[in-house]
Amino acid sequence: MTDTPTRRRPNAAMLAMPRSGIREIMDLTWGRDDVLRLEVGEPDFTTPGHIVEAAVEATRRRTGYTANQGTAQLREAVADKLGRVNGLAADPDEVVITVGAVNALFSTLRALVSDGDGVLVPDPGWPNYRSMIAMVGARALSYPLLAPTWEPDLDALDAAIRASDARVIIVNSPGNPTGGVWSAETTEAVMRLAAEHDLHVLSDEVYEEMVFDGAHHSPKRFDADGRVITISSCSKTYAMTGWRVGYLAADRTLAQTIAKLQEAVVACPNDVAQSAAVAALRGPQDAVGEMRAAYHARRDLAVAALREAGLLAGEPRGAFYAFADVSAATTDTMAFARGLVSDHGVSVAPGETFGPQAAGLVRLSLASSEDTIAEGIRRIARLVAEWPGA
Ligand code: PLP
Repeated sequence: MTDTPTRRRPNAAMLAMPRSGIREIMDLTWGRDDVLRLEVGEPDFTTPGHIVEAAVEATRRRTGYTANQGTAQLREAVADKLGRVNGLAADPDEVVITVGAVNALFSTLRALVSDGDGVLVPDPGWPNYRSMIAMVGARALSYPLLAPTWEPDLDALDAAIRASDARVIIVNSPGNPTGGVWSAETTEAVMRLAAEHDLHVLSDEVYEEMVFDGAHHSPKRFDADGRVITISSCSKTYAMTGWRVGYLAADRTLAQTIAKLQEAVVACPNDVAQSAAVAALRGPQDAVGEMRAAYHARRDLAVAALREAGLLAGEPRGAFYAFADVSAATTDTMAFARGLVSDHGVSVAPGETFGPQAAGLVRLSLASSEDTIAEGIRRIARLVAEWPGA
């Protein structure tokens, strides 16, 4: 084999980008229908019927490109929702519809940062932030979240900002993987730091409707200078992951810049899915409450079972995840997760995927049935007890 000719070499930084540890565990489950799946962060509910019907009808009307920024109807529906749910005043011109929150996060980062810029990400945090930051040539810098509430260590955050040239901070409450829900005081304190150091704040609020204790506080409510970009999505709220509809609200100039970039990234979101999203945001919200109640019951069950097994690592107050502390067995959570799939038929996400603060933890997704969660935790406890040297 000859070396790749230098002119045709792929981007070295992209080649070096690590694969998601969650994917690695998922790969071990292919072709096995006996595995209890607790690794995927995807609602196990189907999209409510009235949303599906609206999409079917829209398909007969129009299936074309839309404006880069999304349809006027959906941008208006999002602006209304931001007022109703988040207490934010947004004009439809300040809203961009995207292909899921993923596309909103990526295009916003692309619009904000240049090569080598620092972006602060939570640790533990959703690994995709780091991949996106690498893809736009920026540098991910961590700030720690602390158990049991998984709120940020404000002194450490202040120090991380002072010690770096970070221009952006990503916040994610309710959080994946922690289930942490930041209080109003914490959110306001983080916003004060952002103002003091003049940072952009990228606020990922995709789990905003899944709060069981406390309340969701959009950082934008504490923003007097247009530094917050608010991002959310239909994926989790309406069990619409595959429809790929997300959105962002930013100050007008930034929103228009992001909309311009969208031409080169995705052109526009799916036309029919945007009609479905209008029905989701404008239609009855009963299903949102029903799903929240189901996740709440599963959270309670998981917390009780983890506590009884001596494995609880902080009580999640929102989203649909819980950590199990397996550090009594090992800190090599990838090895633990591999062993758990192959020998005990349970798939979980290894903590090391989310950052050093999740060392010794594995993440359970509560987007599975109560029976699966209960049996999954029993088997995790069994493996902790059986682990060599534990
Ligand atoms: N943000 C967080 C924290 C997530 O956990 C996820 C999905 O798992 C997303 C964003 C992606 O959402 P979407 O399906 O809207 O792209």
